[in-house]
Amino acid sequence: MPKSTPEKFEFQTEARQLLDLMIHSVYSNREIFLRELISNASDALDKLRFESLTNSNIKADDLHIRLTPDPDTSTLTVEDNGIGMNREEIVEFIGTIAKSGSQDFINRIQEMKEKAGGRELPPELIGQFGVGFYSSFMVADKVTLITRRAGKDAAYKWESQGDGSYTLEDDKRNSQGTTIILHLKPADEDDKLEDFSKEWTLRSTVKKYSDFVAYPIRMKVSRDEVEHDEKGKPKEGAEPTTVIKDETLNSMKAIWTRPEEEVSDAEYEEFYKHISHDWNKPLKRFSMKAEGTSEFRALLYIPEKAPHDLFMREAKHGIHLYIKRVFIMNDCSELVPNHLRFIRGVVDSEDLSLNLSREILQQDRQVQRIRKGLVRKVHETLKTMSQNEADQFNRFWTEFGSVFKEGLMTWDQKERDPVLEMCRFDSTHDPDHSTCLDDYLARMDEAQDIIYFITGESRKSLENSPHLEAFQEKGIEVLLLTDAVDEVWTQNMIEYREKKFRSIGRGEVELGSEEENKKAEKNRREKEEGYKSLFECLQKELSENIKEVRLSSRLTSSPACLVTGDSDMTPQLEQMMKASGQEIPKAKRILELNASHPIVEKLHALFEKNRNDPAIGEYAGLLYGQSVLAEGGQLPDPAAFSRQVAGLMEKTLA
Ligand code: ADP
Ligand code: MG
Repeated sequence: MPKSTPEKFEFQTEARQLLDLMIHSVYSNREIFLRELISNASDALDKLRFESLTNSNIKADDLHIRLTPDPDTSTLTVEDNGIGMNREEIVEFIGTIAKSGSQDFINRIQEMKEKAGGRELPPELIGQFGVGFYSSFMVADKVTLITRRAGKDAAYKWESQGDGSYTLEDDKRNSQGTTIILHLKPADEDDKLEDFSKEWTLRSTVKKYSDFVAYPIRMKVSRDEVEHDEKGKPKEGAEPTTVIKDETLNSMKAIWTRPEEEVSDAEYEEFYKHISHDWNKPLKRFSMKAEGTSEFRALLYIPEKAPHDLFMREAKHGIHLYIKRVFIMNDCSELVPNHLRFIRGVVDSEDLSLNLSREILQQDRQVQRIRKGLVRKVHETLKTMSQNEADQFNRFWTEFGSVFKEGLMTWDQKERDPVLEMCRFDSTHDPDHSTCLDDYLARMDEAQDIIYFITGESRKSLENSPHLEAFQEKGIEVLLLTDAVDEVWTQNMIEYREKKFRSIGRGEVELGSEEENKKAEKNRREKEEGYKSLFECLQKELSENIKEVRLSSRLTSSPACLVTGDSDMTPQLEQMMKASGQEIPKAKRILELNASHPIVEKLHALFEKNRNDPAIGEYAGLLYGQSVLAEGGQLPDPAAFSRQVAGLMEKTLA
């Protein structure tokens, strides 16, 4: 086959910036490049094995990884006979960073680097993103990659000096797989750069990071050996000869099958990093073994930091599925519900059939059983954590609380209750700490049979919300919910331990005993009679946004507030739905006025004097604008509001 001339490509901007950071920064753990390459090779072997299950043209024989150091040319070659890549895949996977949010990520590293004033890269940030293949440029000044896709004849050579561009040309490779040749930078102790063409450096690095990789990592090692006699003793006077032997550097033991007391924390940690592509330690590790109708083992981890893509549609579900020690697939989203998608680890089943496909997974009863078992185990672990390791639990909650809460969006109470039990909410009880529901229930007055909450943008805006006034006066605790997901699950009228949830920004409030409420209601009706014409007039003025004006039983010091009708959408939810592209009619709100507030009294008097006074319309607009601002909302027409305020000031100053 005639060789094409190398074609030159530019790296995508983000990729170039990331490479630049890799090359010009000191990183004390440069050796991890090997873990990254081995992990990519291992992924490629996994993919080949998986494809061979359904495609008889693809053979998965003697899958392995090979390291070939050469001190003479100062190169290190990392080779696998896995799935390989075609031309498009090289350009897509190696020339660009496909992950969304990468620019944002690069900016953050750059910023942190500048703040630290040095060249040292912040490892935890790299970890969140996983720079993978590019880490080769920490140790090499030129990288050559030759690859051939399984089932195809064509092979390609990719080459780059990490300087903004790479070349791509046709090449040859005897069989499928990928060869990566690192042209090593000279070893430099000051720069914390070891010699990776040395046998023992490689051996110890593999042992440290990749011992459990499920495929053999082979290397030719040379040893001086002396001939032995029949008794196994070195022969006398025999000259040592150099023997070259193929050695497997890793033990390949499936870590989850080994007794826990035999495995060190460091090994568990490395395994976590291997499967999760995370560079940080996990926050928590736990394992389970199920017997009976469904037999499986699981080794699971809660990460310390939320991954970058947790809220993106393409977010990975980090569970790897094995069947009887054979890798089947990664990112097995069928094994855990969405709200636990941050869990990483492996599940190894004894009962599933090996020729399982992604499509079958969803309906498989065994898979459903495993999923149930895993959910129970995770919830149990979190519960114990919250009781015995409060600090750790709080760290978990800070990172993953808003994802975990997605578990509340189910109609199934049996599924929802354990999630609710673990949830933490801000509340008016304590400005510095959040609370769990059981503590809320324990603090509540015997007569209270409702869990009160309010939703909004931030804790601060909620704390100053006029809706809280009557509750504060009566000493009733209110939960302050500020996550986007809170707008959604609170729509479902759910209960916890037979207490209903109720938004204090919705419908009517009744805070007293039944008798008191009746009296108050009667009182209000009578009073409202007197205000009837005024309220009608105000409603007309505000008809674009307001469907009703009424007296309030929740205000004590503010003149007015906005309330959402019992079956209407909150403005926040409305905004979220709009943002996700759904067309929905705008829900009008209710304006509640405080009858004992001087503004309301005086407005009433003004109205009684002259029902056609144009000032009334202006005051209506002001009251509305004020109420929107008080709940942290956005004015429909800020300029008009500010003009009205200015006009009012002018009048009063005159
Ligand atoms: P990640 O492994 O997190 O996806 P990497 O930068 O390590 O990121 O690798 C980028 C992509 O390049 C991989 O997802 C894979 O598709 C491809 N790739 C890298 N190394 C190999 C390899 N040895 N064989 C086949 N594909 C590979
Ligand atoms: Mg990788």
